Formats: sequence, C-alpha cells, structure tokens
Amino acid sequence: MKRELAFKAGLAALLAAVLVWGGLPLFRQRHYSVPVVKGPGVTSVFPLSDFSPGLAGTDADTTVFVLEGKEPGGKALVMANTHASEPEGMLAALIIIERGIVEKGTLFVIPFFNASAGRNTRPGDGYPLYFDVPTAWGAKRFRYGNRDASPLDQWPDPDVTVHYPSKQLLSYIDARNTNRTWPGRPDGLPMEQVTFGAMELIRRHGVDLAIDIHGAETMFPVTNCIVAPEKSQRIATMAYLTVKASEGFESHVEPSPPGFRGLSHREIGDHSDALPFLLEAPIPFLDQPTGPKTVELFLEGRDPFLLSLSKKKKLFVPYDETGWPLEKRVGQHSSTTLEIFRQFSRRNADRAIVVSGVPRYAEILENGVGHYFSDPSKAAPGTVVLQ
Ligand SMILES: [Zn+2]
Repeated sequence: MKRELAFKAGLAALLAAVLVWGGLPLFRQRHYSVPVVKGPGVTSVFPLSDFSPGLAGTDADTTVFVLEGKEPGGKALVMANTHASEPEGMLAALIIIERGIVEKGTLFVIPFFNASAGRNTRPGDGYPLYFDVPTAWGAKRFRYGNRDASPLDQWPDPDVTVHYPSKQLLSYIDARNTNRTWPGRPDGLPMEQVTFGAMELIRRHGVDLAIDIHGAETMFPVTNCIVAPEKSQRIATMAYLTVKASEGFESHVEPSPPGFRGLSHREIGDHSDALPFLLEAPIPFLDQPTGPKTVELFLEGRDPFLLSLSKKKKLFVPYDETGWPLEKRVGQHSSTTLEIFRQFSRRNADRAIVVSGVPRYAEILENGVGHYFSDPSKAAPGTVVLQ
C-alpha cells in the first residue's frame, strides 16, 4: 500500500516536472519584451486603448508611435504584426520608428498590432519562440508570434465566428484573428476592441492612408502584392508599377473582394474616408512543405523542398537557390510603403506625406535589416519603449 502511494506520488511529481519544464519557455516568451528605440522623428506615443478604453491594462493593448512633421499635411497609419507570424512588417515599421523623419504630414505607426498574438506561439508546429536579427552591436531578439491572439487573452472560442456588423459566418479561430475582426466594436471581444481602436484613430484623426503589412506563403496566390479595394486601386497600381520599374522587384495589385468581410483592406475603406492597402511579401518559412521551421529558414527563406516545387511551377513567386531572405522582404515592404505615400502626395498636394530617413529596397538589401536598429542599452533615457 505504502509502495503504491509512493509510486503514485512519484508519478505526479514527474508529471508536474514535465509540465513546468515544457511550460516555462512559453511563459518566458510571453513575458519577454522587445526594446523599441524611439528615433528622433517620434514626437509622441500613446496606447491604442486611448481609442478603445476596454483594452486598457490588458495584454491586447499596444503602443501607437506618432511621427508628426514640422509642416502640416496628410496622415497615414502603418500597422504591422496583425499576424505576428509574419514579422517582416513589424521590422519595417520599427525602421520607420527608429529612422523616419516626417517633413510633412503625420505618421501613426503600430508595430505590434495584435500584441496578444505576438506573445502567443506555435510550438505544436515546431515554430521557434524567438528570432535574432544580427546588428553591429550584437543580436536584437524578437518573439516569433502566432497568427492569432493568445487564448490566455481571449477565450473561449465560439463554434462559429459571427462577423460584426455583416453577420457573415467565419471560422471559429477568426474571433482571434485581427484581420477578420474589422471594423470591430467597443464592447465586443478583445480583438474586436483592437480593430475598433484603430478605426476610431483613423476616423477621429482623419487618416488618409491605412497600410497593413503582412507576409504570405509562396504557394498562396495572394502573395507579393498590394491588396486594395476599388478606391485605393489607382494609387496601389501606380505604386507597384513604380517599384517594379525603378527598384526591380515583382509586385502586383489584388482586388479586395467586397463579399469577404472583416479584412482591413475591405472594412477600413467601407467605414472611414481612409484609403486602405494590405501589403504581402512571400515568407517561405510559412509554407507547409518545408524542412524544419528553423530561425535560419525564417531569415534566409531558403528551402530545398520549395526549390523543387518551384521547378514544378507550384509556387506563385519566382524562387531559386538564393531563397527569399529577410532583407528582401523587409526592403520590399519599406519601398512599397514609401511609394504609396509618394503616389498619394502627388495627387493630393495639400494632404502630402513626406518622409525622409527611411531606407528603400536596395539599401536594406545591401546593409541588412539590423543596420537600422540602434543599441537600446546606449539609448538616451526615456527613449526606449518595451513592447
Ligand atoms: Zn497575414
């Protein structure tokens, strides 16, 4: 009897040890914060909960960085990490925050849009918990997040997500996907409150351009493109033709389908005067048929299985031995964003948005992404925001 009890107690202790051993890395990832250095162009920061009070004090709240120009002009909102498993947009947004100087107009930048998803993981898919971007002063570490918000911040999931206000039925998981919860509502689920906060920022500030930066699989047809609704298509087309001709990378415009609800490129335009754009660059790491999901695959985008699929014409982007490195993806996002500002400003001189200091495609390819991040340990007091 005593031996049986001891055996059971031992088994329980072993189970507890395994749970702690397995859970501790996930706990640490959730509580690791990225030091974001405010560059000289950042004039203020505020939490998104200023526009959606229900988020205050929760892990779904996130920081909005404001870069206000000396001269008045138009306004743009740049959002990244809507899907935190597509972090190249976040890196492009951080480069704007560290390096951008707005000459004319105002930029609002939200680098960690779905902040909860950034503290979520995909260990079941073998995803790494972090990735390091090399810099001259050492590695800058980021969390590798998930596509959807953490169930720790929004739970339980519904059987079916009913989109507000269209009542369109979506997959259950889309309740935690901030690219299905637009335009949101102030008293809805936390992810609806996140998108509502951004909608309110857009409406109350009279934002002209809303750019939502993503990444997509090379086997997914909507990749390497700008997704735009009817009212944004002229600017999107001019932007893609210009970057293709002058900077030499592929892009195209995909129309935003009017019947598919909840997406930023649809709902922002339908519920405000802003022109929405969603940018996609290919992330080979996200494709299903690849080798192990290593940090190296994320950084380099090189995979032998994708290469053989490319030879069989199964991919929607050009793909060769050079893969699709991080610099290329971040560089494309940076150039396309700047080009959308420029094309809009050419047509709307009184609402112009003029930004300097942000590198374009060729510069990022040459210098690498880490070149644009400064050492947070050497930053002036009060200039580091933990995200
Ligand atoms: Zn996405």
